[in-house]
Amino acid sequence: MNTPTKTVVQHHLPPSSIGNTRTLTAIRYGKNVTGTKAYIQAGLHADEPPGSVVMHHLINLLDRADAKGWIEGEILLVPVSNPIGVSQWRDDVLRGRMDFCDTINFNRNHPDVIEQVAESVKDHLTDTPGLNVSLIREAMGEAIRAIAPGDETAHLKHLLFSLSYDADIVLDLHCDFQAVLHVYTGTPLWPGAADLSAQLGAEVTLLAKDSGDNPYDEACSRIWWELAGKFPDHPIPSACLAATVELRGMADVTHALAEKDAENIVLFLKRRGFIQGQAPDVPPLKSEATPLRGVEHVKAPVPGVVVFLKAPGEPVEKGEVIAEIVNPVKARAEERLTPVKSGTPGIFFSRIADRFARPGRILGKIAGKEPIKGKKGKLLTM
Ligand SMILES: [Zn+2]
Repeated sequence: MNTPTKTVVQHHLPPSSIGNTRTLTAIRYGKNVTGTKAYIQAGLHADEPPGSVVMHHLINLLDRADAKGWIEGEILLVPVSNPIGVSQWRDDVLRGRMDFCDTINFNRNHPDVIEQVAESVKDHLTDTPGLNVSLIREAMGEAIRAIAPGDETAHLKHLLFSLSYDADIVLDLHCDFQAVLHVYTGTPLWPGAADLSAQLGAEVTLLAKDSGDNPYDEACSRIWWELAGKFPDHPIPSACLAATVELRGMADVTHALAEKDAENIVLFLKRRGFIQGQAPDVPPLKSEATPLRGVEHVKAPVPGVVVFLKAPGEPVEKGEVIAEIVNPVKARAEERLTPVKSGTPGIFFSRIADRFARPGRILGKIAGKEPIKGKKGKLLTM
């Protein structure tokens, strides 16, 4: 009989309102025999439901593995990573993407300790990658402990970073509006992370070194290649494989999909040595990773109602019509339809969930193979 290793910790955020305290639940598995850590969270955008159901199935699978004594590394789950966002109801709709206090996206502006860590390790780096990893993680811990968060959301971001900064694997489970499963990760992490995309069945993987505004996955991973760039004379590996996993669209919530996604995460963790047992060969990658800078945001040219001619996952050619915008008050039939064309060849991987167009609104996204010329600055949408 094995002694289960599972522990559950409730972290409390300092209240924003009198008499209210929000709680963040962290579930930890493993005796950490291997000295490795995987961290998985869901619901940072609190109105994105598929991750919660995946977490339910993942907890079932990990409970079973734990009962058999199979968990080798440390696996830390935060199933509801945004207890602030899950309370933001308005007009009977949950709005969990932006903070109601300041309208800042909950997946932006996560703590950045790169400069502090660089300063503290610069005279101590060695010629041994493993020693440098330990040194940097220690300095990260110190830098994080020195942060004094200002408000409840800052406390939340600080807490999430405190729980995950020293992890080897960080998976942040999200979803898009209507989309195929896709993954965002760091350019330096590819093709090392190809087993993740392949096992999840990702139809698109998007790579960036710095997508702008420090989303959560990059808070955990970008420090490694930034420090490697600052200190080229010392070996600094990209020690944290962090990825944002977009679990299809908002309404793609079924037990069948979530169970499969949870099984895929377990297989990935098995191959990475976190759980004992045999995993089959990695399935073939559905498509090679492409640059985040190659994503075309297809925008509406006119107001109206959108009729899509392409579904998420379909390949498109440059100049192909992916949607039509209908304006029924125009006099002539041909004037009532405005075609929306692809400006780049690639995979049409995501589109809006409602069907309203206003000029400039992003209606969908196409993953192109080449960076789009002239595309500068921040790469993520609101
Ligand atoms: Zn999201």
